[in-house]
Amino acid sequence: MYLKTTNLTFFPKSLVSSEGVEYGLAQINDKSRLVIAADSNELNVFDGEATEQGDRQLLIAPLSPHNAAALRSQLSFLQPRPLGLQTSAGMGDRLGLATPGHVRAARKAGDKIAPIFAQQSMREMARTFRTPQQVMDDATWGIFQEGWQGVVGADADHLKTTDDIDQCLATGFTFFTIDPGAYVDNRAETASLGELSELAAGLPADLQPRASGLLGKTFNIEGLSLTFDEPLLLKAAVKYGGAVGHVANMYRHLKEAASQRPFELEVSVDETDQPTSHAEHLYIASELKRLGVRWVSLAPRYIGRFEKGVDYIGDTAAFEDDFAGHAAIARTFGPYKLSLHSGSDKFSIYPAAMRQTQGLVHLKTAGTSYLEALRTIAALDPDLFCQIYSFAREHYETDKVSYHVSAELGRAPLPAEVEDLPALLEQFDAREILHVTFGSVLTAKSASGEPVFHDRFMATLQNNPEAYAANLERHFERHLMPFVPSI
Ligand SMILES: [Zn+2]
Repeated sequence: MYLKTTNLTFFPKSLVSSEGVEYGLAQINDKSRLVIAADSNELNVFDGEATEQGDRQLLIAPLSPHNAAALRSQLSFLQPRPLGLQTSAGMGDRLGLATPGHVRAARKAGDKIAPIFAQQSMREMARTFRTPQQVMDDATWGIFQEGWQGVVGADADHLKTTDDIDQCLATGFTFFTIDPGAYVDNRAETASLGELSELAAGLPADLQPRASGLLGKTFNIEGLSLTFDEPLLLKAAVKYGGAVGHVANMYRHLKEAASQRPFELEVSVDETDQPTSHAEHLYIASELKRLGVRWVSLAPRYIGRFEKGVDYIGDTAAFEDDFAGHAAIARTFGPYKLSLHSGSDKFSIYPAAMRQTQGLVHLKTAGTSYLEALRTIAALDPDLFCQIYSFAREHYETDKVSYHVSAELGRAPLPAEVEDLPALLEQFDAREILHVTFGSVLTAKSASGEPVFHDRFMATLQNNPEAYAANLERHFERHLMPFVPSI
């Protein structure tokens, strides 16, 4: 390979040749650069500085959005695609630096788990001032750096509006997670039968309970027996009818906008107040099907508590019992995968999730890559870590509002008392406090408008990529291996 003969310092796994063109990612003056060797006309699609090297051209190009798109068009393994029913795992990256570590963990799982490296919700993007394009491109560069050539998906997470869909579709996302949470009517939980009838009457004509065809029907699904009498159907329709209608509208919009481009859909109602019962899950699946929606995974709100960045809180045996019913419904009405949202660190339920779904499962993790960044910083720049922890404590009460967390400031160690910094990341309350304040930390500005933490935070990780990647690899290996089928 010609590139290996140059005196440039390449990320060794990035080197690849395709159709006579060589590509690599090199470190040049502390910056990552795309380097390409080819005939001059092969280089036209990239922006950069070309030099003559004998009978070939050498192009050194910045990691720009244009070059990321050009690279995806030339190296098809970088293009996200639908993953179908394969066991899959999404690893969100709020910093744009985590993909190399994620790739290394995915490698440990062999080809048993289809990974999603580009994954971010609109909420998290807003909190960190990132765009769908940046999320996509950061993942592209990380995949390229590590030379991952297996299949990859890209998850536009928790989309709430058609405008969200349009933005993410334009950027090349292939996995669309539709969140109709705003249309879930929790009044159904406490309403009387009369009130349910009244609320149901307010649903659009095509979502009226009788239109569902479920009234009086009995389902026997793998030992689960469900009869839709009037109260059960009314409650399900009132609670989820509007949500089903919203998903159907989003799906139709996506299908039309995507035209010939392949995509897949996930339906998530995980961020609601009350768990999704089996009857409600069946109602959602039956109604989505009747309305012509096709989806590949669904995230009910399971029993117990799925708090951010900590293990499952609840009775794991009761979880498995309940989850078994959801898995049976997913097999019967799809098959589709059950999706585990807020899936980070739910180590105590992974075996049950794998047992009951037999691999028809999608694990979604988002924020703990940020906690691994903090672990890396605790080792390399303890002073910065301590400042961040103090700041996080001050912002926790405000920042926790849109998350499922139960940490209390009073139970988290005071900054002055902390002796072992990495151990702080294992303390339940401190962990959640650090987890949900990422947006405030990364965007904090001083009185003069300078970033308080951001630049030093990012520089520490960028200057020590191996340290960060090693922490991520170790952390995510623990997440992925329980989903690798044992032979
Ligand atoms: Zn979620």
